[in-house]
Amino acid sequence: MPRIPFPPGTRQQPWVQEPPAQTPEAPALLVEINDVRVHTHETRTALVIPPESRIRRGTVTDLLYSNTKGQERIRNARSLLDRKRTIRQLARDYGCKPAEIDKAVEEIDLGYPLFGEAVTASDLLADEYQALIEVIPNLREDEDFVTEHHTDAWKELDGTTDSEVAHHAVKAVNRLIAVNKLKEIMVLKGFRRAGGERPVPPDITGESTWLPALELYGEGIFFTLDEAMLQRWEEDERVCGRADAFAKRYVKRDEQNALEVDVSPRFLLCHTLAHLLIRQLDAEAGYPAASLKERIYCQATGDRMAGILIYVAVPDEEGSLGGLMELAQPQRFLRLLASAIEAAAWCSLDPVCAEQEGHGPDLLNRAACHACVLIPETSCDFDNVLLDRTFVKGTAPDFPAYLDFAESTA
Ligand SMILES: [Zn+2]
Ligand SMILES: [Zn+2]
Repeated sequence: MPRIPFPPGTRQQPWVQEPPAQTPEAPALLVEINDVRVHTHETRTALVIPPESRIRRGTVTDLLYSNTKGQERIRNARSLLDRKRTIRQLARDYGCKPAEIDKAVEEIDLGYPLFGEAVTASDLLADEYQALIEVIPNLREDEDFVTEHHTDAWKELDGTTDSEVAHHAVKAVNRLIAVNKLKEIMVLKGFRRAGGERPVPPDITGESTWLPALELYGEGIFFTLDEAMLQRWEEDERVCGRADAFAKRYVKRDEQNALEVDVSPRFLLCHTLAHLLIRQLDAEAGYPAASLKERIYCQATGDRMAGILIYVAVPDEEGSLGGLMELAQPQRFLRLLASAIEAAAWCSLDPVCAEQEGHGPDLLNRAACHACVLIPETSCDFDNVLLDRTFVKGTAPDFPAYLDFAESTA
């Protein structure tokens, strides 16, 4: 049976709040119960990166660190004897020696797990980007964030490739990093019903001081685009003009539904590339697109960023099966990237798809449809909009392909 949610902004949760005395004038919106608009969740995600990722889970120090009551009992012991008794008791609980508890107390006093390292509330994505591109010293496999840098091996591929696309693709990518282990925290901020004006908090009334969150474990492939090549491309007037049209439409968007994104040529390129790769992984590597996610690190000014992380994250602490990080091996990644770029050249709905002036919500897609660029809603961070494969493939002779800009670096 179809349901009739109340018009936006009126009676969002009638069983909690008194419905307004007057009948709202706006017409009711009829939505089927399995329509995605009945419940649209709003989540925020962040990767666990150093220093937090270096917390040694399951160790005596970590057990005690998470047990504030136990720590207080040791610290507030009335006498040395009382302290010893408390420590012996905790050691029995943890199945360890009392000396290990003593050592854990010492470590916590020294500032475990951050050891004085300041954690700032700066831009999460910029911090993640930094953690991804930096080589982390003394990395242990049991940490939550484990990367393996393949950049040097990637650069060695230059000149060894057999196709022109692969040759240019090597130049287009600056860094290649396998993320062997990652942990993602997903927080549910609230949900909307049928385009409701205000999001409904998870506890409905908004009285709760906390939000529900999920810990997800997985792996991924991260790469950055060559900054010099990207800037040459960004300076092209045709590229700017096409991206500006997106930005204008985007500004017109209803503020409530706006995504937190700076619509720049590099964002449109990175986002479209991420989708093409996810679709290629689905077609070639047997990864269902719905199990993959994207994370776009993009900033066109200041500390410039242009990075793409394709990853899987599941609630199982064992993570996924390790197939994705294998695909970050330079040879395999190059094959994948080259075929993703080649796939951008055509769509089974061409020429209609390629010539689209704008479609999708607020006309925020151009050459991008379900047959070529769109991916399952759950995989996309940006509502499956701001996509256009013309930025990748170009349209001869009017619009340049991205890889055309690799030439002058040769
Ligand atoms: Zn298409
Ligand atoms: Zn997306």
